[in-house]
Parts: sequence; C-alpha cells; structure tokens
Amino acid sequence: MPEETSEEEFSIHWIRDLVDEVLERGPDEYLIATGKSMSGSVHVGFMKEIIIADVIKRELQARGKQAKTVFIADDFDPIRSFPPSLTLSPEEWMGVPYSDAPDPHGCCESLGAHWTNELVETFPDFGADPEVVSQSKLYDTKEMRDAVRICLNHTETIRAILIEYVARDFDDAQKAEYINSMKDWYPASVICPVCGRLQSGGKGSIVPNRVTSYNPDNDEISYDCAHCGHSDTSHLDKVRLKLSWRVDWPAKWYVMKTTCEPAGKDHAVKGGSYDTGLEMSRQVFGWSGPVKVPFEWVRLGGQDMGTSKGVVFTPRAWLNISPPELFRYMVLKTDVGRANNIQTDLIPDLIDIYETFERTYYGLDEADAEKQELAGLLYPLTEAQSVSDKYIPKLPFKFAIVTAQLQSIIDNDTILQRCYDVMKQQYNLEEVSEESKALIPIRLERALNWVKEFGSERDIVNVPDSVPADIVSTLTEDDKKFLSKLAAIFQTENLDDDDIQSTIFNLARDENVKPQRAFLVLYRILISRKSGPRLGPFINLLGQERVAKRLESVL
Ligand SMILES: [Zn+2]
Ligand SMILES: [Zn+2]
Repeated sequence: MPEETSEEEFSIHWIRDLVDEVLERGPDEYLIATGKSMSGSVHVGFMKEIIIADVIKRELQARGKQAKTVFIADDFDPIRSFPPSLTLSPEEWMGVPYSDAPDPHGCCESLGAHWTNELVETFPDFGADPEVVSQSKLYDTKEMRDAVRICLNHTETIRAILIEYVARDFDDAQKAEYINSMKDWYPASVICPVCGRLQSGGKGSIVPNRVTSYNPDNDEISYDCAHCGHSDTSHLDKVRLKLSWRVDWPAKWYVMKTTCEPAGKDHAVKGGSYDTGLEMSRQVFGWSGPVKVPFEWVRLGGQDMGTSKGVVFTPRAWLNISPPELFRYMVLKTDVGRANNIQTDLIPDLIDIYETFERTYYGLDEADAEKQELAGLLYPLTEAQSVSDKYIPKLPFKFAIVTAQLQSIIDNDTILQRCYDVMKQQYNLEEVSEESKALIPIRLERALNWVKEFGSERDIVNVPDSVPADIVSTLTEDDKKFLSKLAAIFQTENLDDDDIQSTIFNLARDENVKPQRAFLVLYRILISRKSGPRLGPFINLLGQERVAKRLESVL
C-alpha cells in the first residue's frame, strides 16, 4: 500500500458534525451553495467543493430534510487576463465581463459560458446535480437588483466593515490611506453602456467604473467610465451593475437564501472574505448568513493547482484516466481540514484500495468491525450513482493496463473473453454478470489513457511484430531446448494462468536453465524487455498458440 494513503486516518465524523451544525439552521429548504470564478478551465481540485456540498445535501435528505445544491458560475467578473491558448485580443476585451466576451471556441454563448459548460457537464459523472446559476444572469433578476439597492443604502456600514477587517493588520500610514480611499467609495460598479467595460487597465493599474453617488430618494446613481470617459446619472434599473467582490458574496447568499457554503482556505481564512461577508449578512442584510465550511485544497503531485498557469488538470482529464468514485473517496475519507494530494502515478494502486474498500462494504473481504462500520457509512457517499444492492465485480485495473495496450494486436472478442476469464478467477465467479461486462470498455479506455499519460516504463507493454535479431543472437542452446519444449506444450495443452507459471518454472529446471533466466528470455522474446506483467495471465492474453509460434520463430 502506498505510504501516502496508508497513513491517512479515515474520518467520517466531519460530515456528521457538519450536518448537525447545518441542521440547527432549520429552514424549510436547505440550500448548499458552491461557486467558482469562470476565468479559465477549472481544475479537478474544485470538485472537492462540489462533493462536500453534495454529501451535505445527501445527508440532509437522508434525515428527511428538503435540500438542494446550487453552483454559481461567477461569469460576471471583469476579464483581467487570458490563458495563453486563447486567440482573443486582451487589449480588446480587458475589463469586459467574461459573460459578455465571445466564445472563441465557437460553441457557447459567451467565454464565461464556455468554461461553465466545460465544468458543469462533468458534474453528473462525479455524482453531483447542483442547480447551475450564472452570476451574470442573477444580476438581471429583480431580487439581485434589490440586494444591490440594499447595499447602496448601507454604504456607510459596508465601508466601516471593510475598514475594520481589511485594514486590521495595516500600519497607521496604510490605514489612513485606506480610510481616505474609502471616503467616496460605493460598493458597486457600472458596466459602461458605451464601451462595455466594468473597469479599465490591467494588472496593477485597474480602475473600476465605480458608482460615484447614489440618491435613495429617486434611486439614481452617477458613475464615470475610467476606460472611455463616458459619465452619466441614471436610474438604478437602467444600468447594469455589479457589486464589489467582497460584497457580491453576501448579496448572493441573501438572494439565494444560502444555508451553507464550503470555501477553500484562501477565502475562509479568519478575517477573510467569508468573514467580512458574514459580517455584512448580519449588519446589512439582517440575517446570520450561511454556515461556513472551510476546507483544504486538493494538490497535484504535492503542488497547488492553479487556473491561470496554462495546462490545467480538469475534471474531464480525471475522468479520462480514473473512476469518479475514487475522487469522491479521496475527498471524503480525509478530514475536510486536511489537504488531498493527487499522485497520478499511484492511481492503479488507489483504485485497488478503493475496490478493497468496496468489497468491505459488501462484506466480501475480511475486515474488522470498525472498518466495516466505516465502509457502511462512507461507501454510499463515494458512489456517483445510487448504490447497487449486490456487488458488481470490476475488471482489475492493473490487468486492464496490460490488456488495453494489446488491443491493436488482439481482436476485441478475445480481449473481452480474457477479461471475463480473469474476473471469474479473481472473484471466483461462475459467470460474469451483464453489469460487470458493461463496465469493461470504459475501464480499458481509462487504463490505456492512464498508461499513455502517466505510466512508467515498467507499465508500458509493446509486442513488436517479430523478435529483434539482437535478442535472438543472445540465446544459448539450453535456452532454445527449453523454448522448443515450451512451444510444444503451448501447442498441445490448454493451461490456466497458474499452470503456465509452474510449467515455465519446472521445465526450466529440467532443462538446466535457471528459472530467473527462463523468465528473462521469455520477456525479451515477447516484449523486448527484461521483465514485465505476470507471465501466466500475459501469455493467456496473447494466446498460447500465438506465443508458441513466436517461440518457434527464434529456434
Ligand atoms: Zn464553448
Ligand atoms: Zn466606457
């Protein structure tokens, strides 16, 4: 078992404790919110937030409560930069909301919608079904406009909260400067009707098109566009507004009536945006705000995952190499306050661990009472679909890795037949069920993708058309006698995997070839390597007749 996984303590208690806390709120319907800025492809680590929200919802529903999850795609933020792969001109679109920029991929209604769709379409695979809300569309609703009005009417209060929280650790000079900058500050910006921008400038020189005054008597705001110089005074209903980011969050909570929202440590840090949001919920919107659920990030190979640094390991990329249940398992088994670390090279081991855990749930493997209880609680939450009444055996992933690589030289029926044979043997089955069979193609596909992208040299299996001459030239007379007899056995007998192993061993000894040498010679003849997958199953996968012919070809 890899060290990384064996040392982690199982913990289900965080889910129970959390749900107890959420239950104290007692609304008619519980709403668990999640959200993400749509400024690029989203990395798979974000699915931790989605899965935390999903299990809170599932547990609330299990306790007879009305509960749902919502995902808010924050696509109303102004564009600050583009991923390097994008063909749009940054000068042309800087400061425009992501929801107003075109989709250069040509498939979606906006750039923000493109990244939203790319993420959202993977939710069902991961077992999550949040209602998807676009932030830009939310701002078009009367409810959000009312929330903006409440904020403008409480500008003084919001200024005071920000000064208290943001300037908390400033020195006197910084604090004085900040307080001064807040004197004429309003918590909303306007999308300029002339140039379409929410702000001007790029990194380091951003000037938002902030509201410069608000008249509550006639509901009119004034604003200047820092980009094109347009300025105007107009009714609140006649312009497109966006709240400042620390104010936007509590306004969304208020409008959505959010009961609970998980947040990564950057936002959830003490005194951070979550806490200022809760303070605004109390002082501006007159309610408690949601239950805060801080969580530690998911890391990739020990590194933080970023959105802006080019290549992104997306949820789709995860699904291409690994089952979604493994991701849910990784997230849920670890305390929410601890980081998860994806090690792509260990995925085959982790899948084995997960499937042992699955068998514990079904009472099929020896496990102590504690492990069984834990599997009883946790396994259903790791499943993307509803849990099957009976155990559905899965093709062992490590066998799939080898098999998938032989699809170019072995016909599909033979591949499947060998998969069935291996499953019968592995799980002691009379027959392989249709449910099990149905899972094989996707497993082979994931295994092949994994080995191509993350497999080490040891995982790569390649059978050349013929045995290279430099390998043939190293064979001794004893080797050839051994190979000749082995070929004859393969031509006449039909051996199972274990029989092949023992036959090679015994025959080698009889022919004065050291068993170690015999195996080495066979690996070199078959795959031009010194070692490889276990020979019994591998030779049966290739077919004994095919192997016999190959052995004869070197004699
Ligand atoms: Zn698109
Ligand atoms: Zn403008």
